[in-house]
Amino acid sequence: MTRILLLGASGSIGSQTIDVINKNPQDFTLVGFSVGYRTRCIRSILLKHKEVKIVYLRDKTKVKYYSSRYPQVTFTSEGLDELVNKVDCDMVVNALVGYSGLHPSITALNANKKLALANKESLVVGGELINGLLKEGHGKLYPIDSEHSALWKCLKVDDKNVNKLMLTASGGAFRNLKREELVNVKAKDALNHPTWKMGAKITIDCATMVNKCFEIIEAGYLYNYSPSKIGVMLHDESYLHSYVIYNNGLMRGEISKPDMRNPIKFALYEGNIPFATQTFNSLDELKGLHFHECSLERYPVIALAKKVLTKKGNLGAILNMANEVAVDAYLRDQISFLDIEKTIDYCMKKVKYIASPSLKELDDSTFKAMNSAREYIYFLKEGNRR
Ligand code: NDP
Ligand code: MG
Repeated sequence: MTRILLLGASGSIGSQTIDVINKNPQDFTLVGFSVGYRTRCIRSILLKHKEVKIVYLRDKTKVKYYSSRYPQVTFTSEGLDELVNKVDCDMVVNALVGYSGLHPSITALNANKKLALANKESLVVGGELINGLLKEGHGKLYPIDSEHSALWKCLKVDDKNVNKLMLTASGGAFRNLKREELVNVKAKDALNHPTWKMGAKITIDCATMVNKCFEIIEAGYLYNYSPSKIGVMLHDESYLHSYVIYNNGLMRGEISKPDMRNPIKFALYEGNIPFATQTFNSLDELKGLHFHECSLERYPVIALAKKVLTKKGNLGAILNMANEVAVDAYLRDQISFLDIEKTIDYCMKKVKYIASPSLKELDDSTFKAMNSAREYIYFLKEGNRR
């Protein structure tokens, strides 16, 4: 029986994790969870999961209300790190979005917990620190991201003579538009993802391809491949979740309908359940599925992954927070779609590079990137007003 603490229960990955736990009660017990401001799921989760002892709410104003309704459960808004340290569990599922996920990931590993990780930003920002902890024997890490889950399965079958890891990408909501047509695209259209239903931030990240840039970094840290060994292939249907090209030309990939409950389940079972991968000689064999080369001119942001994986340091922290602030502004219709890239470029130039940052220095760089991004967005908004 694995006792689970779920961070981000009110989100897209969080609710699908609850689904997986509900379907496998013989193997998993939910012992605690966190929500942000969406508290409506608390009732239904507590109704089913009687072993839950503690719930974190970001919304302080609701702690009193829930404490009186469910006196057998502790409600807190103290902090996610405190929650991770306090709860007696075997596995932490990190389904938080953005920078908020970094510290809980590190705290979970420091406490020698198993970490099922959807929050890719943890690796983008703190990949070096996380790998350092794992190398020292602190905890275990199981990826939830569908591409990385597919690669995990493929590499489980054969990790010798690997030529390249290939991440597939849907291309997001604007995949059929040329770059010059992206000038006036609005957030409400970007939120209309062609193949996946996800949280708002990652849906915008898919449209800008920052998500794929993050996933290259994620794959680099998870599987220890250099950026030249990690490629991207556009694939319309999101059926081929990613694939490995071997030196003899053979390819191995995982194919299934897009459903995040599959990779979530695989991570929760620590990779110890049956899975299928398929080999093929050429993508032509996958008739009916569509593949296109991914052009760096159309998606220049992907090139940043190479920079971050090569120079490392605090570059991932700067990239991540610049993007987070810009996506938030775009969702509020304060800046244009292409301004997201410009904000990232500005911050990557503005914030000073640190080669081997501590966690505190990653926090400082994040804070500086946040201020730089806000300053740049203010300047953009002023420009628009004139
Ligand atoms: P959602 O926005 O749907 O959910 C995010 C969760 O994090 C919510 O529970 C939210 O609370 C909580 N949260 C956000 N900020 C904070 C904070 N500062 N403190 C405490 N809680 C917070 O995101 P997704 O589920 O889509 O994505 C989660 C992660 O998984 C992301 O890193 C994403 O990149 C990754 N991922 C997602 C996929 C998907 O299919 N959705 C696929 C692959 C990866 P609330 O909403 O209640 O305020
Ligand atoms: Mg993914």
